[in-house]
Amino acid sequence: MSSRSHLGHTARKRFGQNFLTDEDVIDGIVRAISPQSGDTLVEIGPGLGALTEPVAEEADHLHVIELDRDLAKRLRHHPFIANKLTVHEGDALKFDFHQLVEDGKKIKVFGNLPYNVSTPLIFHLLSYQGVIENMHFMLQKEVVERMASGPGNKTYGRLSVMTQYYCKAIPVLEVPPTAFKPAPQVDSAVIRLIPTPPQWPADDIRWLEKVVAEAFNQRRKTLRNCLKRMINAEALETLNVDASLRPEAVSLEQFVQIANYVAAHPP
Ligand code: SAM
Repeated sequence: MSSRSHLGHTARKRFGQNFLTDEDVIDGIVRAISPQSGDTLVEIGPGLGALTEPVAEEADHLHVIELDRDLAKRLRHHPFIANKLTVHEGDALKFDFHQLVEDGKKIKVFGNLPYNVSTPLIFHLLSYQGVIENMHFMLQKEVVERMASGPGNKTYGRLSVMTQYYCKAIPVLEVPPTAFKPAPQVDSAVIRLIPTPPQWPADDIRWLEKVVAEAFNQRRKTLRNCLKRMINAEALETLNVDASLRPEAVSLEQFVQIANYVAAHPP
């Protein structure tokens, strides 16, 4: 049998298909999601159902969003759990998650995401503030580390600041390539994201995005230098931000202060 074949399906590279096969890992993820009766659960990229089946066993109902037409069809005809599933065939990046909110009840989203769509998809989901209770995603380990990293760490950067602006980011589990079929070339990890109202709200999120992107574009330079097109050293001093810091030492709170200053004094 081909190494790309699993349960009679040949994994499609263009859909980022690496199917989970390790029962301990599957169990660990399901425990992290902790599905409860009454939850509105949404799985992105259910594939052959490695996570869908055990989650459906504990839940009343599950929405799944799958791009691969053959896999969507398989799930619609699943011998044991089809009656608990609503299968949405299509691209999760274009999906309107508001349609799943009933009586104001927040949704729980999870998935073992194709690596090529994971970051845009998470940012798409982060724009649904107030609608999502929590998210659990399998991502490249390196991406999980960057999302959860704090100032002073090598992995701290744009992804850390923007993720943590919108939510608490908690690494849950590390997963080796051997847990999948076919095995990916990189290590993976599961992250829990809990959307929370920003502790330090930005007056205009677009300025926060611009300031953070500009700062980490040249992460070896000092803040004074990387942000010189937006704010000068004296203004940084008035905000109590040391202009000689490197961006990787600047906290989310400080980035928001800078962004709010720039929003009020646009360059
Ligand atoms: N959840 C399964 C598992 O753990 O074994 C499959 C994981 S596989 C890494 C990713 C799944 O996402 C595949 O089933 C793939 O067809 C689906 N997929 C890829 N791109 C997608 C997209 N844009 N929207 C929805 N599903 C997508």
